[in-house]
Amino acid sequence: MMAGGGAGFLLLPLLLLLAGALPPGAPKELYSPQDPLALLDSRSLPRALNNSASAWLLEFYSSWCGHCVQYAPTWRVLAGDVKDWEPVIKIGVLDCANEVNTDVCKQYGIQYYPSFRFFKAFTKEFTQGENYKSGAEHDVQTVRQVIIDFLQNSPAESKPPACPSLAPIESSQVESLIAVKESHYTAVIYESPDSYIGREVILDFVQYEGLVVKRALDTDKEALQKLGIVSVPSCYLIYPNGTHGLINNLEPLRSLFSSHLKSLPGVRKKTLSRPELTTKPTKPDKMTETWKEFDKSKMYMADLESGLHYLLRVEVATHQMLKGDELKAFKDFITILYKLFPGRPHVARLLETLQDWLVSMPLDKIPYDAILDLVNNKMQISGIYLTSHVQWVGCQGSEPGLRGYPCSLWKLFHTLTVQAALQPNALTNTAFEGNSQAVLQTMRQYIKHFFGCRECAGHFESMAKESMDDVKTLKEAVLWLWSKHNKVNKRLAGAASEDVKSPKVDWPTPDMCPACHGEVKGVHNWNEEEVLVFLKKHYGSKDISLLYSDPNNDRIEVKIPPFTKPPGHVTGDKKDPKHGLKSDTLDKLVPDHLDKNKDGELGAGHKDLKLSSFLGLGFSNIDMSLCVVLYITSTLFLMIMYFFFKVRSRRWKVRYNRPYV
Ligand SMILES: Cc1cc2nc3c(=O)[nH]c(=O)nc-3n(C[C@H](O)[C@H](O)[C@H](O)COP(=O)(O)OP(=O)(O)OC[C@H]3O[C@@H](n4cnc5c(N)ncnc54)[C@H](O)[C@@H]3O)c2cc1C
Repeated sequence: MMAGGGAGFLLLPLLLLLAGALPPGAPKELYSPQDPLALLDSRSLPRALNNSASAWLLEFYSSWCGHCVQYAPTWRVLAGDVKDWEPVIKIGVLDCANEVNTDVCKQYGIQYYPSFRFFKAFTKEFTQGENYKSGAEHDVQTVRQVIIDFLQNSPAESKPPACPSLAPIESSQVESLIAVKESHYTAVIYESPDSYIGREVILDFVQYEGLVVKRALDTDKEALQKLGIVSVPSCYLIYPNGTHGLINNLEPLRSLFSSHLKSLPGVRKKTLSRPELTTKPTKPDKMTETWKEFDKSKMYMADLESGLHYLLRVEVATHQMLKGDELKAFKDFITILYKLFPGRPHVARLLETLQDWLVSMPLDKIPYDAILDLVNNKMQISGIYLTSHVQWVGCQGSEPGLRGYPCSLWKLFHTLTVQAALQPNALTNTAFEGNSQAVLQTMRQYIKHFFGCRECAGHFESMAKESMDDVKTLKEAVLWLWSKHNKVNKRLAGAASEDVKSPKVDWPTPDMCPACHGEVKGVHNWNEEEVLVFLKKHYGSKDISLLYSDPNNDRIEVKIPPFTKPPGHVTGDKKDPKHGLKSDTLDKLVPDHLDKNKDGELGAGHKDLKLSSFLGLGFSNIDMSLCVVLYITSTLFLMIMYFFFKVRSRRWKVRYNRPYV
């Protein structure tokens, strides 16, 4: 059955590929094979970069990141604009939201989107590339100039061979060019030292024959006068027959210089045979998924669990080591999730195990792989499971790249603020006891340290700075997040990241909650009491639908008693055995649980043993036990052998003893 399913899975993309088209009605991706750039994925990226004769500029993006969606047209225009520079520098993209690329994005240290990286030519060993100059990603012209700076600053050994000299020539060199006949045109762009036009035009012609482009600076005024140049930038053209003159019927713009020069007779593009460097990237699962009917007035567990999967296995996983503020933000977030996430028992148990384990680890840094082992339940503890099957329902987009993860993150935090308001004692005996801003501040730290969309994180931080501290009650926390989300909706209405099937409007809409809306003197007015009632119902656990949730419970033993979270549970302390998880589960995770010192820290002698179970070394407790048994058996065997030979040698000595010798 598996094999059949697998073959079907492979067959569909193959048929689509053969047909050379997407399925009828299939929507566009953020970037498509028709765009003038390389669509890379985990397989094609290393091949493209390794020992490449050209440099690369890559955008690591996330298809759910609104800013990436909005920036995509600019990046596409840039790629088209510098397409002629390809033998020198290539432009590519890689979607880190596609889970086939998760590991490669992690390997390249991509934590935020979009991230721009330069890769020098002829790199043979793995490198994460050079970060793009910050703040320069905004317009095509700026990026072009950053590319030129990068090329000029590259050391000789990694200069792409196709890259012509970008340095200016002297006036004397121009004079010598004028004096000779050549088989080609020579264009000299005169410009000021800070102008990039000359270098841009030089690069525009790397794939052309019949013309050589040079640049000269406007510093030698006498030389300029001789040539009749009164303003810069100017293009001085030397014809193959030796005649020369100023092109003065053009506006001094790079595009005009280039297109005029390309139109000269005999100037034409070389036919280069270039190897195919890119492959069509593997499509995310959602491309082949069919639309799921859903009720927009409902919350779906599938959205929350899919979001949690992405958050724990992809987004935070880009941070290889959690330490300092990041570790604190993560621990606090897990505590809040454990206490307030209205998950199914197997997810709730996973969160509890994770939380307990984090509290029991007195380390100031933790490799994320160790946490991933736990999230993936490598220890195979029964009753713990988080789906890895992404299933957007209320968060599904009508096109790939729309909605999905950020939608689920909003929903998750609304759910958590509502749960905190519904269970005011849930955070008792935690560091958050009595803190009305607990969920909001935890969200703020999560967004600040981990949310991949940096632009979004910046906007959220500004809103938090402005008024989060004014929140005094749990109800106010629910309404604060609601009103800020509406503020974001207002800002993003009409943006490229808006899904026409889910327009960004003031929410809840009148059809969802008529009582929430009113008017005062002809102006719309929210009835906040009603909004609160609505939010509590919408994000309250009773109304969360399990439709489309992953039914894959085969890894879960259902013997476990129903899961309830003890409100009075002291975070990190040994639990009431009724709730059993800590004593059951952590004992399995940490073999010498009882050997904790009084402060609850691991005894020094056991630290290593515990770490070996978790710190990504892949040893389970069974492995460790086997090692101990093997060790004891070998020691015993060696001792027996030792005594056996000792006795034998004594006997031998007695038998062959020659007292007279
Ligand atoms: C913290 C944060 C900041 C962001 N900042 C930006 C940004 O600066 N720029 C950008 O382009 N993208 C930003 N995004 C992404 C953007 O807000 C959307 O999440 C994304 O465009 C997907 O939109 P969506 O249609 O699924 O609806 P979303 O806005 O994601 O909403 C998800 C669901 O929440 C419910 N909902 C809507 N409004 C409210 C509300 N006021 N209160 C409670 N529930 C509500 C609805 O059911 C809706 O379907 C941000 C996301 C997050 C989590």
